[in-house]
Amino acid sequence: MEKRAELYAGKAKSVYYTDDADKLILHFRDDTSAFDGEKMEQLARKGMINNRFNAFIMQKLEEAGIPTHFETLLSDTEVVVKNMQMMPVECVVRNLAAGSICRRLGLEEGVELDPPVFEFFLKDDALHDPMINESHIETFGWAKAEHVAKMKQLTFQVNDVLKQLFLDAGLLLVDYKLEFGLFHGEVVLGDEFSPDGCRLWDAQTRKKLDKDRFRQGLGGVIEAYEEVAQRLGVALPE
Ligand code: UDP
Repeated sequence: MEKRAELYAGKAKSVYYTDDADKLILHFRDDTSAFDGEKMEQLARKGMINNRFNAFIMQKLEEAGIPTHFETLLSDTEVVVKNMQMMPVECVVRNLAAGSICRRLGLEEGVELDPPVFEFFLKDDALHDPMINESHIETFGWAKAEHVAKMKQLTFQVNDVLKQLFLDAGLLLVDYKLEFGLFHGEVVLGDEFSPDGCRLWDAQTRKKLDKDRFRQGLGGVIEAYEEVAQRLGVALPE
């Protein structure tokens, strides 16, 4: 696999072409951002942890029959993924209230959401990722109706798999954000699954072990990510 020119640099990952038109390389950087890129810091080891964490989760999801971008781990901070046409829509599922839903609906953090809440957001930093619905997606052509239905179904299926996986490790999966793409016409999970894009609390103490530690300036961000990885059994180099 030969790494070619950079296709795109996001806030935490860079994407490279390869000599195979069907494959890209994702490079997980140590850059950590919040509030649509307004708060930015480099956190040593974060790229490596998120790369390993993402590979672990994507493989668990594949085993459960959910199609993902994952192909092979290339290095500590790089993974080979399918070259997909990404849809500019973020799919969020919430099992417990936290973050923007508390601000929007005046909910107390930690309230159980049963059945879990599903939300769509538009992936657009300049507009601060506004909440959208299926009507917006259809009217503005961000994704086809059949693909929207599939994204929603897969996002809930991910919840069934990961809620239990994290609970077995003593963690509550509070909420998470997924992004999907099309690979040869099929809806496939892309982007990443890591503590940067989900909320994880200790099941006993409800201690935050995700990017909220960075957003809220709680400290111990990398220590928390490492604890989560260790509890799940993700192998991390020293
Ligand atoms: N999220 C994300 N990227 C975004 C916005 C949200 O990964 O651009 C994740 C976030 O980490 C959380 C979930 O999606 O796990 C729901 O986020 P929320 O709407 O509560 O927004 P926030 O409070 O993070 O602004």
